[in-house]
Amino acid sequence: MRQLADALGGNGAGPRLSADYRSRGWWSPDLLDELVLDTRGHRGRRAALVGDGRVLTGFELDAAVSGCAARLARCGTRPGENVLVQLPNQPQLVILVLALIRLGARPVLAPPTLREHELAPVLSSVRPAAMAVPVRQARFDHLRFAEELRERHPFVRSLLVSGGVDPARGHLDLDEFAAAEEAAPVAGGPRRPSDTALFLLSSGTTGAPKPIPRTHEAFGHVIRASAAASALTPDSVYLAVLPVTHSFAFGHPGILGALVHGGKAVLGAPGDPAGAMALIERERVTHCALTPAVARQWLTVHAASHGPDLSSLEVLQVGGARLDEQTARQLGDAFGCRIQQVYGMSEGLLNFSRLDDPPEVVFSTQGRPVSPGDETLVVDGRGRPVADGETGELLARGPGVITAYHGDTDTASFTSDGFYRTGDLVHRRPSGDFVVVGRVKDVINRGGEKIPAGELEALVQRHPGVRAAAAVPMPHRVLGETVCLYVVDGEEGSATLREIRRFLEDCGLAPFKLPESVVRVPALPLTGTGKIDKKRLREDIANRVEAEREVSP
Ligand code: AMP
Repeated sequence: MRQLADALGGNGAGPRLSADYRSRGWWSPDLLDELVLDTRGHRGRRAALVGDGRVLTGFELDAAVSGCAARLARCGTRPGENVLVQLPNQPQLVILVLALIRLGARPVLAPPTLREHELAPVLSSVRPAAMAVPVRQARFDHLRFAEELRERHPFVRSLLVSGGVDPARGHLDLDEFAAAEEAAPVAGGPRRPSDTALFLLSSGTTGAPKPIPRTHEAFGHVIRASAAASALTPDSVYLAVLPVTHSFAFGHPGILGALVHGGKAVLGAPGDPAGAMALIERERVTHCALTPAVARQWLTVHAASHGPDLSSLEVLQVGGARLDEQTARQLGDAFGCRIQQVYGMSEGLLNFSRLDDPPEVVFSTQGRPVSPGDETLVVDGRGRPVADGETGELLARGPGVITAYHGDTDTASFTSDGFYRTGDLVHRRPSGDFVVVGRVKDVINRGGEKIPAGELEALVQRHPGVRAAAAVPMPHRVLGETVCLYVVDGEEGSATLREIRRFLEDCGLAPFKLPESVVRVPALPLTGTGKIDKKRLREDIANRVEAEREVSP
């Protein structure tokens, strides 16, 4: 099906729209690695990638990518194969991803926080020939985890490992693969701009993350359009402190946006605001992307520190979850730079507030589409467009937006004429700017990481101490939302928060999805139609949190 869609016209947009996108120049014939690694003129001699104590110029990065591609080919990686990449922010990640693309193989970018519960369906769907992982990640034995996954999914032939390889276990040394500094001929297959260059993962609204195929031409468009809205230039220095395996820091515009413009990409560690600020000073960072939760942490750390000189910072982009107006204003004041709201999704629709928008627009809206080709509709429950100012679900179609997931799963996420249903409730201002007011989908947004409520409920109900469960967002000062579970005790007794967390971990659920609070109730409230009344539960937990804050502010 995907091959058919590719043959018909790239993004699956159909021949008419595809021809239109190409004739207007929204889809250019560039291949992604060539777009990103253009070393013409002075660009090749300037620093392009910084991380883990390594500095690579454009020429060195290009050579490392070719060297890595040649080694991958020698070890049997073939064009058309998929490789799951679950690495932290380090140069090896960038080199490997671009090398796979150069080879015509397809990286599947998976955030390092995902565990077996999320990854097993992804593996079954894309059947990767290899997985790239670090030996360890904080206290998590990532290599052992990958070995266990490989045992259960024998189509994974090899493990590419960073951080110390034991040759006796037959793993491939990613650090060595990515260290090559000489250009080498690449035995890749023929590639077309309409081919899938890589896969991102959806944040999963109903359960497992879904692979999102991104063609060279559609993803190239997204990078170029978002980089232009971010005013990236050859003098820009982009700092990635969100995981680069997620689209925001990767290509929206992320590190690839910086590289496309001949700028420099700096890789920082997530969860270390003080370290990030030291990097801003050292590398003279101009652009950085944060979630609102991380932005709040930055504000706290910044207020307590007198140190680093952050005067190089020009733009702080904030997205992934709704940024409240107060935090937006505080950020602008504290960091003395422009704030840019980013409301987007890995499926490809990107809305940015513009850098020359008046403060009121920047602080209180989530911006408007960056692509001139994006068509958006705000519709009611029956799919009928609503007037500006009225709330409805946002639908989108355009040169950067996908029209199908890999394998054509979840066709319900698309309308018959190719619009993607975002599942977000918004209203549009007459200026075209969107304000995100809620969501149709039942997802908890924990500091930008999405947790499908249904997935959690189905798992926790397997615990003998739980008869019924409902997961709802609980207001949190820094993260915005965390998970609260309302549970009805099972026949065989009850379960504490600790027991539930341990049980879910043992089920292989990603740690960020674990509940922070459990409320035991005799029965879950129901709506008139017999559904769990989540609205009531959301109100209930918000009231409880508010009451607690009053007691201990
Ligand atoms: P992801 O694909 O993981 O980037 O998640 C996309 C989803 O995150 C969107 O559909 C929204 O629900 C949410 N989201 C992203 N940016 C914002 C924002 N600026 N404001 C509110 N929600 C957002």
